[in-house]
Amino acid sequence: MLARPVYLDNHATTRCDPRVVAAMLPYFGEVYGNAASVSHRYGWDAAEAVDRARDEVARLIGAEAKEIVFTSGATEANNLAIKGAMRAPNVRGDHVVSAVSEHKAVLDPLRRLAREGLRVTLVPCDPTGLVEASAVEAALTDRTALVTVMAANNEVGTINPIAAIGRLCRDRGILFHTDATQAVGKIPVDVRADETPLLSLSAHKLYGPKGIGALYVRRRDPQVRLAPLFDGGGHERGFRSGTLPVPLIVGLGEACRIAAEGMAEEQERILGLRERLHRGLCLRVGDLKRNGHPLDRLAGNLNLSFSGVDGEALMMAMRDVAVSSGSACSAANPEPSHVLTAMGLDEDSARASLRFGLGRFTTEEEVDFAIDSVATAVERLRGMSTVDRP
Ligand code: PMP
Repeated sequence: MLARPVYLDNHATTRCDPRVVAAMLPYFGEVYGNAASVSHRYGWDAAEAVDRARDEVARLIGAEAKEIVFTSGATEANNLAIKGAMRAPNVRGDHVVSAVSEHKAVLDPLRRLAREGLRVTLVPCDPTGLVEASAVEAALTDRTALVTVMAANNEVGTINPIAAIGRLCRDRGILFHTDATQAVGKIPVDVRADETPLLSLSAHKLYGPKGIGALYVRRRDPQVRLAPLFDGGGHERGFRSGTLPVPLIVGLGEACRIAAEGMAEEQERILGLRERLHRGLCLRVGDLKRNGHPLDRLAGNLNLSFSGVDGEALMMAMRDVAVSSGSACSAANPEPSHVLTAMGLDEDSARASLRFGLGRFTTEEEVDFAIDSVATAVERLRGMSTVDRP
């Protein structure tokens, strides 16, 4: 019996890196100024820390520091990008194109815009969860003002052709936003090369603290204009009023610095662990199907359907491994995953799915433990369902 379950749910959130915690601590204590206080040392020290963090975030995604707008996370960044763009005074068009496989933090703002009278088209993904640029292109009209397509999928790890979609939008003068929450810090992201004038990210997915994220908002070619979600002191170029949470911002900056430092090696190691997990489960458990793209995928993601087994029951049977089921991504929603069903899985297969998310702190021993734990639970449940069959 373990002290705590093995954590394989790194798409839901990641542990805050101890180096990040150490970097944040002084800003809860002695350096407590308001970064907007311009008349004394307390404010200057806080502002300096924010500037450094802004530089680190910008560096990781190929942006300029001034283009980073701190938000409370990716949900807020997505809302600001989508509602802000469509409610901006200069918006040209009333149509948004997105994809069925997006996170709720994109789909729900779009739903609200649709209720307000805007037109929204959700393009399908292919059976691997990939959103093709040609599918986006086919949905564009002369009234399309915004396209939003995620960089990497949070359930099946499929990486979308963001640069191709970005180019397509640029050529037609359409604004493009990508929810890169699962991609930043895991795969190279470059807002210029990828032609993404708007990009959302979140600290707690890259070993930073919860409650802080950022929206990249391009300042030129094109200069993006957004209506803010709320009004106040005019912080963050007027895009996001509110006193800056300096400790959290410092944490995001440090998380980005660490991610930039060793991304390739870290992903290589995580990929090795994922292959070990996949191989081990294939050997021990028959009738296993992997969901997602075979190549264009995040190293830390393994999404599997265990036929004949209910994902929720499987999770209950292996309480010593913390994973997500194909139906548990959005808290109070017992429906099978909308991503898996959009990929063409039937309801039973979607319900028979588990998402394993490996990360920086996952070890080989933990993977081996998980293989054993999952295999034992599947055997037991399959045994039970055979007995139960009439
Ligand atoms: N987008 C994606 C793709 C996500 O995976 C998540 C987190 N589950 C979010 C947005 C929301 O991020 P946050 O928790 O920072 O609001």
